[in-house]
Amino acid sequence: MSFDPRHVREANRVLAAARADREARRAAFERQCRQRLPELAALDRAIQGTVAQAIAAALQQGADPSAAVERARRENLSLQEKRLALLRGAGIDPQDLESTPLCPICHDTGRQGGQLCQCVSQLAIAENLQELGRQLDLERFDFDAFQLRWYAAAFDPALGASPRELMESVLTVCRDYVQLFPAYPAKNLYLYGGTGLGKTFLSGCIAKGVAQGGHWAVYATAGALFARYEAVKFNRDDAPAAQEDVRRYEACDLLVLDDLGSEMTTPFVQSALYQLLNQRMLSGRHTVISSNLDMDGARARYVPQVASRLEGEFQELPFFGRDVRLQKKEERL
Ligand SMILES: [Zn+2]
Repeated sequence: MSFDPRHVREANRVLAAARADREARRAAFERQCRQRLPELAALDRAIQGTVAQAIAAALQQGADPSAAVERARRENLSLQEKRLALLRGAGIDPQDLESTPLCPICHDTGRQGGQLCQCVSQLAIAENLQELGRQLDLERFDFDAFQLRWYAAAFDPALGASPRELMESVLTVCRDYVQLFPAYPAKNLYLYGGTGLGKTFLSGCIAKGVAQGGHWAVYATAGALFARYEAVKFNRDDAPAAQEDVRRYEACDLLVLDDLGSEMTTPFVQSALYQLLNQRMLSGRHTVISSNLDMDGARARYVPQVASRLEGEFQELPFFGRDVRLQKKEERL
């Protein structure tokens, strides 16, 4: 598991607010109880007093403190019993006056066994999904909603199989990639094919699934991603925020780069793309690209260093069939 540090900060902020709220409600209840039971405050003070006495006795030098400590302990127990009887007599559950942690697993430290506790990680996952949800309609993006019926079942001699069979295996690879993340044999996938064949849909499903599994997933269209690099390079007004986005593109566990080839491929874009890919490969991070360009198209469009990264480091997933959006439109008419 790894998370965007911003998502972890936000998760901790939410938890701190929930803890403060819980403590405020407890304190308010305690005030109410003390108003109802004036003896309660006196008892609480006396109990505190016996604790102080025991500590003072234990710290005293010279004489053996054990008798004094024992006296304070007995006094404390007897006061506790009185307090309990008082509360029970008034129908108050003493537990409701105790400060208990919000998370019983980590006792609100946020960590468990050297890792983030699930109270923090679940919220960080939710933050990641919320961020993805700003670009993708996540409700819709689900492997189960991918309908193979839009892909022809008839054998295509040119393909040596039916488009449906081929797309079924594409779907299987995408599912396995998420299921096994980050251990799927291919670190990176290159989804390519014509418009309307489900590339954005499946790459969105991958981003969502990987994020749900507790990994930091970032989705960006090529146009939006390179615009952020340009904002940094040309020091536009939003450069600080763009710098933050660039950092996310480079540092996330999985980058889903959608619609590569749709951007204006300037020399600057070529170099930004090369650096991004190269840096992600070197640091062992995962990337999923979707594109209308097959490898020949990519070779024609990008500098050799980029094309060789794509060819050498990505598992190619060709998409087949007829534009699904078009078919749906035809069906409606
Ligand atoms: Zn916890």
